[in-house]
Amino acid sequence: MQGISQETMDALFLKVDGDVPLTKEDAVALLNTESHSDAFYRLLAKAEELTRREYGNRGYVFAQIGINSAPCSGNCKFCSMGCENFMVQEEIEKTEAEVLEEAGRAVEQHIDALFLMTTADYDMKKFLRIAEKVKAILPEDVMLVANIGDFEEEMAKRLQETGITGVYHIVRLNEGIDTALCPADRIRTLDAIRGAGLELIYCVEPIGPEHTYEQIADEMLRAREYSVNIMACMKRVGVEKTPLYERGEITDLELTKIAAVTRLVTRPKTSMNVHEPKQMTLLAGVNQLYAEIGINPRDCAVETGSNRGFSIAAVKDMLHQVGYETK
Ligand code: SF4
Repeated sequence: MQGISQETMDALFLKVDGDVPLTKEDAVALLNTESHSDAFYRLLAKAEELTRREYGNRGYVFAQIGINSAPCSGNCKFCSMGCENFMVQEEIEKTEAEVLEEAGRAVEQHIDALFLMTTADYDMKKFLRIAEKVKAILPEDVMLVANIGDFEEEMAKRLQETGITGVYHIVRLNEGIDTALCPADRIRTLDAIRGAGLELIYCVEPIGPEHTYEQIADEMLRAREYSVNIMACMKRVGVEKTPLYERGEITDLELTKIAAVTRLVTRPKTSMNVHEPKQMTLLAGVNQLYAEIGINPRDCAVETGSNRGFSIAAVKDMLHQVGYETK
């Protein structure tokens, strides 16, 4: 039966207040909080308290440009671009000029970070050329982040030399089972990122109803092991006709609870995000949201900004509504 006793929650919050790292068992106990209980709201309040105390009222806006849509050998069973289930309107690849134009527009709207995303098979040399041009137009205080396939130390070094601040890279829930990618390769890339001194941006994702709290807790602890400062969790969006569509989605309420626990367990130093943006999660210590441009794995439109994706203005407004200040 689900639930957490008041005494257990008190003891775990004491650990949080004393900066004692929570264990996997602690994380699972918190994840078992019943969603309509008083304890649920205590959990949200604790995550919120930490965020306001440690981050002040600073809210962060990240923008991501999806550079290409093409059948991808990652073949993730939830993704609109998996090679066996490609269902995006069309295959496209943005030109360097298009990426630069979109990056410029995003910069004008005062973002904190710009992510460049490709499918796993995208040519890395081409990515580096585009990244170099984008870097040249970014103000100093805007992070440039790569969201690309697996790579080795040499590529990590090249990314760093190109001026990339960080890399979004994760071991997905059920990696190697629901994807054609090997968890060991994902971990090697995480190590290469750390080895090159790049900031690792991490996320527990894509969370579906079938994932256990133990699995979810493992990814929180993995992020902490890599000293992640920019953390997130994301629920799987059911893209119709993808193999995992029938498994359904977790609710926004459940995502909010997982965000609160992630905040307490991982203790990121800069920000906590959920994806896609959900207003109610901003009551659980979330202070960072993503706007999206171009393609993404949760959408069949080549321009998610005009479909599922949120604009920069929209996510800023969501943050402002709960008192976060953005650039
Ligand atoms: S989620 Fe990424 S790696 Fe997986 S199939 Fe989609 S584009 Fe490829």
